Amino acid sequence: MRILVIEDEPKVARALQQGLEDESYGVTLAQTGEEGYFLLTSQRYDLAIIDVMLPGRDGFEILEAVRRQGCRTPAIMLTARDALEDRVRGLDLGADDYLVKPFAFPELSARVRALLRRSQPQPPALLSLLDLEIDPVARCGRRGGKPLDLTPREYELLEYLLRHQGRIVSREMLTRDIWKEPVRHTPLDNVIDVHMVRLRRKVDEGCAVRLLHTVRGVGFTLKAGHP
Ligand code: CA
Repeated sequence: MRILVIEDEPKVARALQQGLEDESYGVTLAQTGEEGYFLLTSQRYDLAIIDVMLPGRDGFEILEAVRRQGCRTPAIMLTARDALEDRVRGLDLGADDYLVKPFAFPELSARVRALLRRSQPQPPALLSLLDLEIDPVARCGRRGGKPLDLTPREYELLEYLLRHQGRIVSREMLTRDIWKEPVRHTPLDNVIDVHMVRLRRKVDEGCAVRLLHTVRGVGFTLKAGHP
């Protein structure tokens, strides 16, 4: 994890660097707003700690300028006083958190950890029903831990059914949302039925609990137990 510290007071800057390095972060120090701006817009950091009171361009100006450039690096502002307007201004300009000087290092460290945690991409949510699950990012499915050998269309159908689990999915819905056709028609009904037969075989064959059911005259439903 790389952290950029923009702070002009050497003592504070050194203390921050030392403390963060002791916690195994890689730290870059910038002593002026200009330098900080240049580094933030040209290098990749996981987080920036920006002092508000800087010579030349202050921390607010730096933050505003880098946000305008599209830089989304999480930022903690260090304000000299607990002035409400400073906090509001920082947050309005796109700061993610702020800390009032003087602060205790463990508090900064906790804020850094919290912010880094929040900014890490979350693992993709799996969709599941009992022991059936799919991964919408990898576009694959498993039943009872065993991979399902699905065609792209079957995968789409299964994801759609899982997103509507417990509800009835009609042929009209499948025509519109999966096959992207404006109106339902008999040849397509037959295609849908063929896909459903194959999908049911892949999902349910050999399993004690059937999940994919036909609701006669209406459509299909994915649920544990009887439709
Ligand atoms: Ca300062």
